[in-house]
Amino acid sequence: MTAAFYDLHSHSTASDGSLTPAELVNRALHQGVQALALTDHDTVAGLSEASQAAQATSLKLIPGIELSANWNGQCYHIIGLGIDPEYPPLITASKNLQQIRLQRAEKIAGKLVQKKIYGALEAVLSAAGDSMVTRNHFADFLLAQNFVSSKQDAFDRFLGQGKPAFVATEWAELTDTVNWITGSGGIAVLAHPMRYKLTTARMLKLLAEFKTAGGSAIEVVTGQSNSDEIRRAAGFAKRLNLAASCGSDFHTPNQWIELGRLADMPIDLQPVWELF
Ligand code: AMP
Ligand code: MN
Ligand code: MN
Ligand code: MN
Repeated sequence: MTAAFYDLHSHSTASDGSLTPAELVNRALHQGVQALALTDHDTVAGLSEASQAAQATSLKLIPGIELSANWNGQCYHIIGLGIDPEYPPLITASKNLQQIRLQRAEKIAGKLVQKKIYGALEAVLSAAGDSMVTRNHFADFLLAQNFVSSKQDAFDRFLGQGKPAFVATEWAELTDTVNWITGSGGIAVLAHPMRYKLTTARMLKLLAEFKTAGGSAIEVVTGQSNSDEIRRAAGFAKRLNLAASCGSDFHTPNQWIELGRLADMPIDLQPVWELF
């Protein structure tokens, strides 16, 4: 099986995706994906529906999660692949992260009020329902209310780091995060490493600590990586002797990239699925 058939990073309505877990599985099948990981932000709530939908089809559903973690005051995303969704520490962590997300949402809404933008909290809570509330929900609200011209614009002008409605957040610590994943039998993968814009020295420090904590792979091919980013991520994987993952980070049809539409993985790396 080649990389084109693995998509190890995707979202459903359990967090900020627009398709239900069953719709996501069906779309992945239709796109020719053979193995899909559902990796919602900080929650395993979509996994049982996704597994059920994948049963009796040719699709292999890999239970996953994308956890928000802190390292030296910044947020990094750690993907867990092949996790046990019933592992108690993971469930507790998810509950705590949901509270952290709710408190952050209140603060983001408060900052928007300072910009004379009202009603955001009610809108995002109602849109998210029982699911994880994310900045993506705020971006949807700002776009629907015509405060921004696109979701990207919402991040550029309000929600992105350093912007007026950005709220620095105390996520869980990186080491704890990796331990929840590995403790549940999963593989910890650093998501979209090139998105953090770290210097080489800092990236090496992050990866060394990630590896010491039990992390074993990084995403080398993502839905948004260009060939230079793939080359650089591959260099880090080799240097640290980490396995390589690939995932679209699919959220919704016709935005960003389609499920399974990924560049080939560099051949001289160990694919993360060899660790499954
Ligand atoms: P959160 O985890 O709540 O901070 O939200 C992060 C999510 O917002 C990411 O997973 C993306 O789905 C979305 N996001 C972050 N930055 C951008 C951006 N520049 N444009 C569009 N969506 C973004
Ligand atoms: Mn997201
Ligand atoms: Mn992410
Ligand atoms: Mn993601």
